[in-house]
Amino acid sequence: MPQRIETESRKLLGRLRSALAEDSAGQARLDHVVQIIATSMQTEVCSIYLFRDAETLELCATEGLATEAVHQTRLRLGEGLVGRTAERGEVINAANAPARAGFRYMPETGEEKFVSFCGVPIQRLGQAMGVLVVQSREERRYTTDEVYALEVVAMVLAEMAELGAFVGEGAALSALHQRPAMFRGLIGQEGAAQGTVYLHEPRVVVTNPISDDPDVELERLRDGVAQLQASIDALLDDNDAMGEQAEVLETYRMFARSRSWVRRMEADVENGLSAEAAVEKEQSMARSRMMQSKDPYMRERANDLDDLSNRLLRLLTGQGADNGELPDNPILVAKTIGPGELLEYGKVLKGIILEEGSVGSHAAIVARAWAIPLVIRAAGIVNEALNGDRILLDGDQGIAHLRPEDTVQTAFADKIAMQARAQERYASIRSEPAISKCGAVTSLQMNAGLLADLPSLENSGAEGVGLFRTELQFLVRNKMPQRSELSALYARVMDSAKGKLVNFRTLDIGSDKVLSYMKPNDEPNPAMGWRAIRVGLDKPGVLRMQLQALIRGAAGRPLRVMFPFIADAREFADARAEFEKAMERERRLGHPLPATHEVGAMLETPSLVFAPDQFFEDVDFVSVGGNDLKQFFFAADRENERVRRRYDTLDSSFVAFLELIVARCAKAGTPLSFCGEDAGRPIEALVLAALGFETLSMRPASIGPVKHLLRRVNLDEVRRVIDEARAQGTQTVRQAVTDWLVYQQD
Ligand code: PEP
Ligand code: MG
Repeated sequence: MPQRIETESRKLLGRLRSALAEDSAGQARLDHVVQIIATSMQTEVCSIYLFRDAETLELCATEGLATEAVHQTRLRLGEGLVGRTAERGEVINAANAPARAGFRYMPETGEEKFVSFCGVPIQRLGQAMGVLVVQSREERRYTTDEVYALEVVAMVLAEMAELGAFVGEGAALSALHQRPAMFRGLIGQEGAAQGTVYLHEPRVVVTNPISDDPDVELERLRDGVAQLQASIDALLDDNDAMGEQAEVLETYRMFARSRSWVRRMEADVENGLSAEAAVEKEQSMARSRMMQSKDPYMRERANDLDDLSNRLLRLLTGQGADNGELPDNPILVAKTIGPGELLEYGKVLKGIILEEGSVGSHAAIVARAWAIPLVIRAAGIVNEALNGDRILLDGDQGIAHLRPEDTVQTAFADKIAMQARAQERYASIRSEPAISKCGAVTSLQMNAGLLADLPSLENSGAEGVGLFRTELQFLVRNKMPQRSELSALYARVMDSAKGKLVNFRTLDIGSDKVLSYMKPNDEPNPAMGWRAIRVGLDKPGVLRMQLQALIRGAAGRPLRVMFPFIADAREFADARAEFEKAMERERRLGHPLPATHEVGAMLETPSLVFAPDQFFEDVDFVSVGGNDLKQFFFAADRENERVRRRYDTLDSSFVAFLELIVARCAKAGTPLSFCGEDAGRPIEALVLAALGFETLSMRPASIGPVKHLLRRVNLDEVRRVIDEARAQGTQTVRQAVTDWLVYQQD
């Protein structure tokens, strides 16, 4: 980099710093800044455009264009060269601007005199905030070094806007981070919550973008990088880092050791930025470059670089080590979070909003087990939210309102109050049975997976645990749990159930549930691959250990065990034989055997519905895993947002299929339950009960609404409505049942 520009750039930053230190505020400060830039760069025009809203840029300050145009001239995103600079997040450097595609001349500014144009995006962490523009009469292409100086200045401007330095003059100048914002994501867990943002990893705020002494800053930067490299090496040396985790760390190591990354930051510091501002500048620029890439792998790497830069920023500023106390009603906002980290927060969280994640992710499973409203894939929220911001979370629609307006706030408060009233209504029938008008009683049970779920047995009025997903205990650890740990845990689960029955489902891993400490299987279609009982039977070590732990945990009490994903009668027979062997072994070892034991199968594949009669006679009970069964019935991946809602559970064909399951179990006198998510949806629950499912197992929060509805209807009539709708050849019975229900309410 030539010496002149280097010193110019540093000089420019020095002058900017004095401008910022003055006590002029808002517009006066902004005017001063453009004037300094124009003079230092010897260019006739310097202007700053800032976003007024997500789509509109407004001229907020200018040196050289008509001052009357300030706060009057507006451009849509993508409009003109300024709009294009903002849209692409890239520099546009045009010696002859009018000849450039997309050029749009705005007469009110008097810019027709100026031929050359250079626009530099003002952005922070890839988030567009505005555009810094220089223009001149002479046809000239701004040199690389000049563009560089502008980028450095844009970085400083981004920090100033962030700090609210210009707040107070004109709507466009109000700091971005004070505007209300809405984020539309996907439903992870229903429910509404209002509270205060708590960032899982708070953003570092750079308060000193311009350095006093480049030598000191260089040393700080190098120290920081060295510490960062050492911390990544230490993580990699940790033997626990395996599989995907190790891959991520390797990428981090590669970035952390990248000479060009470090060199670019050093150059920024030499040009007058503080060490942390340099890190952030490179992070912003690399992010916007990588996010433009069509290659999803590259876009994913932008997240890695973000993570790495944030670590370095935390090292340099000391921020983030202590994220402060949890506020009242904390709503956790994170890019992504592991189940272990989530468990550490505990149930105090009122809601969770993630930028990534899927419905089946482990964090989502934990949030669901806790019945904490969760929104996933809320893109961009981590950059926008600040600790302490007010936030409303609408888990029923997958929406978050950050810093909401009063009207939104009021509507939301009404919604929460209505839900609270409904909860009171449900509480009043908590100890009543789900007895319908026809006298039929449906047993309502709850799904669980953590010891922490057990108190819900009492609160919800569930009659037992219809499904205890044992894999959660395996998923939230970083190494295989030991038999003694497991048997102690199962014993505590049974203690907490206080005599109510718990259906323990043996380990269901594979598919989306991958244990970090087991060798990953690279399968083309894991949901239909080597999962659940298939793993248990092929590599029986873990299954045997788990069965032993269950028998020991029961310690003489009644025990119910069910095997997941049984696709044919032989698999069930083999699994049951493993259970019998475990019983025999325990007996020989002198451990007390369960008072009674029942061994069931989860029906999750259509094949099992057509198993020989003998299977239905042999099995002690059948539990329909509707989530899996439905995905295989319709061949529609439950994890794929494009198709997972495409087919209705109440589709007449699926209803006919469920009816067949009821008939097969009834013929053999085998108890039958349904434990997929659909059991917790009132209309679905009604249809299931009317079809003959005597037990439904669901999230604890669903028990109240389902019971309330079941108690109000006559299931024989529901059955008649279903049959009539089917006789008419309807695609789904939902409409008929819903219409009938509405009529009931009149
Ligand atoms: C199911 O498939 O419906 C089920 C209950 O099991 P999981 O959701 O854990 O696969
Ligand atoms: Mg399943």
